[in-house]
Amino acid sequence: MKTFLNALRSSSYSTPSTSTASSTSISPLCGRPTHVPKDPTAIRAIITPTLLEQCTCDIHSAAHYFDYPLSCHSEHLPSDLTIHPHRRPLLNEPDAHNHPYNALFLARATVKWFAREEEIMDAPQRGGLIVFRNMVKEGLMERLNAADCRKTLDEEYMGGVVRSLCDVFFFGEDLLGRGFKWSRSKETEWECGEKTPLIRIHPISYDEAVYTSRACQRLGAIMHDLIRVFLSQHACPDCKWAWKENVNIRGRGRAWQVMAKGIEEAGPKLLGVRDIGLRRLACLVADVEDEVEKVSRHDLEVYGYSKLLDVDEVETEGGLDDEGWVMVDGIAPSP
Ligand SMILES: [Zn+2]
Ligand SMILES: [Zn+2]
Repeated sequence: MKTFLNALRSSSYSTPSTSTASSTSISPLCGRPTHVPKDPTAIRAIITPTLLEQCTCDIHSAAHYFDYPLSCHSEHLPSDLTIHPHRRPLLNEPDAHNHPYNALFLARATVKWFAREEEIMDAPQRGGLIVFRNMVKEGLMERLNAADCRKTLDEEYMGGVVRSLCDVFFFGEDLLGRGFKWSRSKETEWECGEKTPLIRIHPISYDEAVYTSRACQRLGAIMHDLIRVFLSQHACPDCKWAWKENVNIRGRGRAWQVMAKGIEEAGPKLLGVRDIGLRRLACLVADVEDEVEKVSRHDLEVYGYSKLLDVDEVETEGGLDDEGWVMVDGIAPSP
């Protein structure tokens, strides 16, 4: 229940007065700022009418994943990426004729890989953990909590932060491409070519309505975009039938939800920070509202949001109290 309430709380969005967001520069997977009502009834009103009659996941629509010509011409299998203890699978690089991974299978395998016990991680993954934890010891989160991060964290250092996150969560893939930039041009903006993403995060904006620290929000924003870049680089775009809901045009469909939930659950313990929110519910509601994503009851269950369909149950749980909200040690909530 706490997870649900946390997600609900972190889904609210108020445009900060410092924002200079412009929607003129649209990258292929760029989303809009998410704005979700706090009231579960209002969220339900958006989601319920669009609930899929038949879930389009591989369990409920198996033929579209496994039976050509309904499925992709490439044969994708859940076992395409096998996770062994103390090892990391080498990802097949995509090219014009070869897109090896179905997005959903890739997402599940990635979560299985990064969420395993530390004792059976591979050496580079553990190396990434050590690098990140050392940065936290050196004051990363305090500096990431600054009013203006450009004054406390230079972009080269942030590039190191992102690389360590790639080692821990993304098989060590280079998702940084052209580097990291603090950019006021958009709240959270990034560009993505095949191998040349530019991770851009706003150095000042944060969500005033969320009780987590600015540092946690910014870390979450980075992870949010890394998943989109990862899927855009490695998931098969020829899985057309499943692409609409598994990736969607904003890069945060079913596969993104699976990975984001995995990071929210495993990330705090791995990284030594106490809360990471990737705005999963906010994105889901925004994308459903904008008709770029559809969900099923099964999806909501998998995402941990099935209670959205039962408003009474949410209300009898006491609504949105602050208990259970955590901050990075020593960092005060955003004003
Ligand atoms: Zn399903
Ligand atoms: Zn495919």
